[in-house]
Amino acid sequence: MSEMGEMSEIINQEQTKQEQEQANQEIITSYQDMLDNLYDIINSNINIISDSTNNKVDTPNVIYDKTKRTYWNNYTINCNQINKDCETVKKYSANEFKNVCSIDKKGRLIIKGKYTDKMIICTFKNYINKYVQCSLCKSLQTNIIKDHDIRLNFIHCSNCNYKKAIKTI
Ligand SMILES: [Zn+2]
Repeated sequence: MSEMGEMSEIINQEQTKQEQEQANQEIITSYQDMLDNLYDIINSNINIISDSTNNKVDTPNVIYDKTKRTYWNNYTINCNQINKDCETVKKYSANEFKNVCSIDKKGRLIIKGKYTDKMIICTFKNYINKYVQCSLCKSLQTNIIKDHDIRLNFIHCSNCNYKKAIKTI
C-alpha cells in the first residue's frame, strides 16, 4: 500500500469512528429523553408542584366517559391556582391535544377523544414550566407581557421582578 493509500485509510477509519460516536450520542440523548418522560410521569402522580414556595396546585382530576370525551373536572380551579385565564390555557391545551376543547358551565374542560390523566398532568406541567413559573424564585405569581417593538413575550414575576423571554403560545 502506498503512503497516500495508508493516509486515506486512516482518515476513513477516523470518520467511521466519529460517525459511530455521533450515533452513540444520539442513542444516549433519546434514552435520556425517555428517562425524563418516565420521571415526569412518576412525579405527576404525586403533586403537580412541590417546592419550597407556597405554590399549591391540585392534581388535575380527569375522567373519560361513554360520550368519548375527556373531562378535566377541576380545570377552572387549576387555572385560578396558576393565575391564568381559562381561555388561554384552553388554547394551549387544544394545541397540545390536537383536538377540540371547550369549557362547560361547571368550569370543566371537555376534550374530544380519550386522554389519560397522566397526559393531562404532563401537558399542564409543561404549560406551567413554559409560561407560568418564574425560573428564578419559582413563584406562580407571574404575568405575560408583550413587547411589540421587539416582537417578544416575557414572563414577568410579580414576586421578584424577574423577566424572561418566551415563545408566543
Ligand atoms: Zn420570581
